[in-house]
This record gives sequence, structure tokens and C-alpha cells, in this order.
Amino acid sequence: MSKTYDTIILGAGWSGAVAARELTKKGHSVLVLEARDRIGGRARTWIQGDTHIDLGCSWIHGYNEGNPARYIAKELGVEAFLPNPAEGIIYGPEGPLSSEKAASLRSSLSSAQASFKLPHPSPPSSVSLALALLGADSPLFKSSSTASSDPSTTDISSTSPANPSEPTPTPTSTTASNIDKSLAEGLARTLEVPLGLKLEKASLKWSGWETTTSFAGSDAAPKDGYESLVNKVFNSSKAEIKLSSKVTNINKSQEGKIEVVTSDQSKYLGKTVISTIPLGVLKTLPKEFFSPSLPDKLQETITGTHVGVLEKLLVQYDKAWWPNGDKIGSYTFLPTGPTPTENSSIEDIFNGSTLITANFNAPTLPNPSPTLLTYLSETPAKLLLSHPTSEVISAFHQFLIRRLAPKEKSIIGEPVKGELTNWLTDEYSYGATTTPSIISENGERSPMDFKELGRPVWEGKLGFAGEHTEMEHRGSVAGAVISGFREAERVDRLLNLL
Ligand SMILES: Cc1cc2nc3c(=O)[nH]c(=O)nc-3n(C[C@H](O)[C@H](O)[C@H](O)COP(=O)(O)OP(=O)(O)OC[C@H]3O[C@@H](n4cnc5c(N)ncnc54)[C@H](O)[C@@H]3O)c2cc1C
Repeated sequence: MSKTYDTIILGAGWSGAVAARELTKKGHSVLVLEARDRIGGRARTWIQGDTHIDLGCSWIHGYNEGNPARYIAKELGVEAFLPNPAEGIIYGPEGPLSSEKAASLRSSLSSAQASFKLPHPSPPSSVSLALALLGADSPLFKSSSTASSDPSTTDISSTSPANPSEPTPTPTSTTASNIDKSLAEGLARTLEVPLGLKLEKASLKWSGWETTTSFAGSDAAPKDGYESLVNKVFNSSKAEIKLSSKVTNINKSQEGKIEVVTSDQSKYLGKTVISTIPLGVLKTLPKEFFSPSLPDKLQETITGTHVGVLEKLLVQYDKAWWPNGDKIGSYTFLPTGPTPTENSSIEDIFNGSTLITANFNAPTLPNPSPTLLTYLSETPAKLLLSHPTSEVISAFHQFLIRRLAPKEKSIIGEPVKGELTNWLTDEYSYGATTTPSIISENGERSPMDFKELGRPVWEGKLGFAGEHTEMEHRGSVAGAVISGFREAERVDRLLNLL
């Protein structure tokens, strides 16, 4: 343990990669300790031949609107592609909805979203988005011929195929008189995919707050996937990296240095430390992990904030058998059965959930592949993860046939590959991303929580980066990248004073 690094960074995801690159550029010695046996964290790419599909982050949101990931990709010579819009089809219990009916539902949802966005009379912090959105008077249940064209509602509505959201509702001249309540609620549940939590837990008070700050508009995907891009960021830095090095303790010594201990009892010394350990993992750490322990206010914020659930379920076939498989961008399945519970069969979990399935065979993508990828929101994800993956994949295949091509059941072959992510149970993420502010009894929770999570301790020698530490860009690659820049700049200044 003779060497003392200027900075030790915990975690080799986006935030750790950017901080390591920036600090080594300024001439500082940096050691990165990563618990996994790979670089990338929540950037992970599934590769089969020419097919690259991201199982974690996939989109550079707001590509043309200033997302810093775009500039990093460009600097490293990595292309990104902006897919053309492709049509999305909504399936109700009776099959595909007519384009008029689908447009009417989307319009009503867009109007409802717009009406609950800030500024509005501030409701109590204990009121959920579900209460407003699914209440009897909600614009969701009113037929809308003049839907909002408010561009700031597009953060949860995108035109990109393979994006976990419904296509952007556009103002429509439909005159449909009755909105089917169960269809409207089913469609509203698509919002739970990007939110990472049930509408019942999302705060109405803070609903839409992030649309004023986050990158939105155009979405692009890095060629070959996000994981290889993070690897390139690391390879372009002079940081030393140790994989399979799970940090178990961080101790401030009396001499003012920081000792970092890993699970194999190796010890490393740093003048400063940047932790990028995800919020879901921070919640599980024993109090002794940090010595001295973290301030009470920070500990309370770690406990009180929420990590969302989002899983991806992918099936690949020999050839695309689904309707208009060479045209359609996505299929949205509205529930045909009751909301599933812990006792539901796998079949009933699929039947009772709203599911968005992206078609990777769409011609708008650079390497079309006969692959369907479904985004699982909190309820189906939690329930499905308690079943064996092979059974989930097999039941999903049957579900897709039932909904998309029931008459061709006998001629459709089994999937050749399948994959179900487990970000929720993965001990190095424990969830997908930090969610927006959740409901709280006495207004304890607000976007300021994410500022608190990024506040350094120990006279600035222990800093925090990661998507959960960026108030304006929480939950995104942009947040992770910006937090990496922020901490690198702060620590550089501090090192120059030490
Ligand atoms: C399914 C899914 C879809 C997403 N889609 C998008 C998208 O399209 N666009 C977008 O902008 N964002 C998206 N995101 C969010 C984005 O992936 C994250 O915000 C971002 O990757 C987080 O980077 P990070 O550096 O903060 O954390 P991470 O990437 O999680 O990095 C933290 C690192 O710390 C390591 N670690 C944990 N514990 C320890 C320990 N004890 N010791 C050492 N190392 C440890 C972890 O292994 C990990 O490598 C998505 C996320 C998921 C899960």
C-alpha cells in the first residue's frame, strides 16, 4: 500500500469514466476500482453477430439539443444514428386499434399530461400522479380534438422506434366521442416505463418538473451500443483500473488520507475519493462502510429517495413473423386481464400489464434484426423476475403470438435467443435509475434531494458522482456524464490546494 493516488474512483460506469478521463488529462494519478468484471455499469450491450442491442441505457436523449454524451462520442470517433420516426400500433383486448382511436387516446393522454405539469396550484406533496391522472375528472377520459402540442410533454413521448415511450401525440382532428376508460388507463400506464415507478407513487407536485431541465427532443443511439463507448472513454484516459474489485470500506485516516478497502482485503490510499456507487447500492451499505459515517442529512436522503424499476425482455427469431414487421416501430399492448399480483401465472402477468415492445426489424435502424424488445415497468418486472428466465421467455413468445398473429400459431418457430435483464436484483445496481420525486407525507422529498446526494463530505475529500447526484439530469447518461465533469473539476481544484 505504498502509493498514494491523487484520486480513487469507485465504479467504472459513465460517471466514473468521465471523471477518470478528466482528472488524468489534468495530470493527476487516478485508480478506478470496479466491482464487476467489466467496464460500463448500467451501459451493457447484447451482441449477436451484427446485432447490437443495449440492455441498459440506449438513447442519447436530446442529441441535437446539447447532450454532452454526443460530444464525447464525436471526440472519440463514435457515430450515432438518429432513427426516422416509425409508426407505433396500439393493441387493445380486441386487437389493433384503428389509427383514429389510437390518435384520440394519445391526444387525451397528452392533454392530461400537459394539464398536470407545472406551473399549477401546488398540490400537497402526498398527492400522487395517479390520483390526478386517473381521477374521474381527468382530461384523460375526455375526448380531445385539440390535443396539447406543448413540446415539453415529449420527454415521455418519443417518435423513435425502440424507445420506451409512446409516439409523440400530435394535435389531431379526430372527433371520437367516447374514450374507453380502460384503454385510456392502459395507455397512461406506459408512463410508468420512463418514470420507473407506478403512477401511485409518483409525486403530482413535482410532475413535469424535469421537463424544464432535461435533454429532450431528438434521440440518437451510439453505433455498436453504449458499452463500447464507455470502454473507449476509459481507454482514452490514463487511469489505472482494477476490475472485480468490490469496495467494502472507505476510511479517513488521521493524516488526512483516505484508505479504500476491497473485498479481497486489498488496501489503497488516495488524497481524494469519488464514489459513483449507484443509489440502489448506497441504500444497502452497512453504516460502517464509511468511517466516519455519513452526515445524518445525507443518510436520510439516501434512505428516502427512490430507485426505479425498468427491465428489458428480448426475443430474437430466425425471421420476423409479426405483422408489418418491416414497417412498424413499436407495438403497445394494453391489458386484457386484471392487474397481476404475486399469485398470478406468468401468462396472467403479461395479460394484465401494459407493455411496449420495440421492433428491431424496423427499416429505420441501421442493422435491422428479427428481434422484439419489451420494456417492463415496475409491476410486471418485479413479478416476472421471481420466475425462471427460460419460462418467462417461453411464455412471452406465446403472448406475442396470441396478440400479434393468433391465426399463424402453428407456423411460427420458437425464438432462437432470449434475454431478461435483472437490474433490480443485480447487487451492483439494485434498480434501473433514481426516480423523479416520489410522494411524501410532509414534503420531505423534492428535486433538491439530488443536490444533497452530490454534496461532498470530509472537507471535500470524499465526493459523489453518478446519475443520482444531478438534479437537472437525474436518471440519465447525461446526468452521469455531467456529474463526472463536475466532480473532476471540483477535485482538481482541491488537489491543487492540498
Ligand atoms: C434499462 C435501462 C435503460 C436506460 N435507458 C437510458 C437511455 O436510453 N438513455 C439514458 O440517458 N439513460 C438511460 N438509462 C440510465 C443510464 O443507464 C444511467 O443513468 C447511467 O448509465 C448511470 O451511470 P453511473 O455512472 O451513474 O452508474 P453506473 O453505470 O451504475 O456505474 C456505477 C458503477 O459502480 C460499480 N459499483 C457498485 N458498487 C460498487 C462497489 N462496492 N465497489 C466498486 N464498484 C461498485 C457498478 O458495478 C457500476 O459499474 C437506462 C438505465 C437502465 C437500467
